[in-house]
Amino acid sequence: MSTRRCALVTGGSRGIGRAVAVRLARAGYDIGFCSRSADEAALETARLVAESGAGVHHTVCDVVDADAVRRFVGETEEKLGPAHAVVNSAGVLRDRPMALMSARDWHSVVGTSLDGAFNVTRAVLRGMITRRSGAVVNVSSVIGVYGNPGQSNYATAKAGLNGLTRALAKEVGPYGVRVNAVAPGFIETDMLDGMTEKARNAALGKISMGRFGRPESVAELVAFLLSDSADYITGQVVQIDGGIAL
Ligand code: NAP
Repeated sequence: MSTRRCALVTGGSRGIGRAVAVRLARAGYDIGFCSRSADEAALETARLVAESGAGVHHTVCDVVDADAVRRFVGETEEKLGPAHAVVNSAGVLRDRPMALMSARDWHSVVGTSLDGAFNVTRAVLRGMITRRSGAVVNVSSVIGVYGNPGQSNYATAKAGLNGLTRALAKEVGPYGVRVNAVAPGFIETDMLDGMTEKARNAALGKISMGRFGRPESVAELVAFLLSDSADYITGQVVQIDGGIAL
């Protein structure tokens, strides 16, 4: 019988989510991941995961849609077994000063992070509690800790995710389920594509290590927090930001 455990990764087609899926596959997990699109990027993640011998299942699923999430979790667990780990990485940016921000841009960012984490985590939590084992990592951001002009929606979403992490950790700790968050600084992914040269240089000037981070470095931290090596760590928001001072 396979000793592999199943991990769910939202937003696994690109960026940090893909790096996490690939890293967890190498750590011995089978991977169920979702994204909104069934594009080349999703196929590439599936290929990279399968390369390390892991089982893999991709579902097209908008994490804001609770029915779609139930399908994602149901299909994955049927194929790969009960979810032992969940990484909530799906996230979007819609930057704008609040005076100019549409309600749509507000809800899109807050909903993806918060409704997404709620829908996905709730769908697996009963199983984890019953089995007395499981771990969740939410992908937050340093912006949720420090705030940033033009990102009131994003800062709210990520600060909310930090609150969810701490509250849920207290709720499910007695059942052997751990919940943590990682809060990356600037990480080289498609999410930074919209940054102007000027904004990049301004950001770099605030980072002690003088460079942006790699998704693989975030994936290492996520893998550690999910692993048994972190079996006494819960309710933490761990920054991974190259020494940032915002
Ligand atoms: P990315 O490269 O833009 O990838 C985003 C991923 O999320 C894609 O797979 C995307 O797939 C998926 N996604 C977006 N909305 C979704 C939804 N509603 N339902 C399902 N999947 C959805 O972004 P990233 O940089 O890897 O960011 C990953 C996480 O890290 C986010 O939560 C982000 O806030 C956080 N973060 C990033 C940075 C950074 O500097 N990059 C810093 C701090 C925190 P589709 O496009 O197909 O939907």
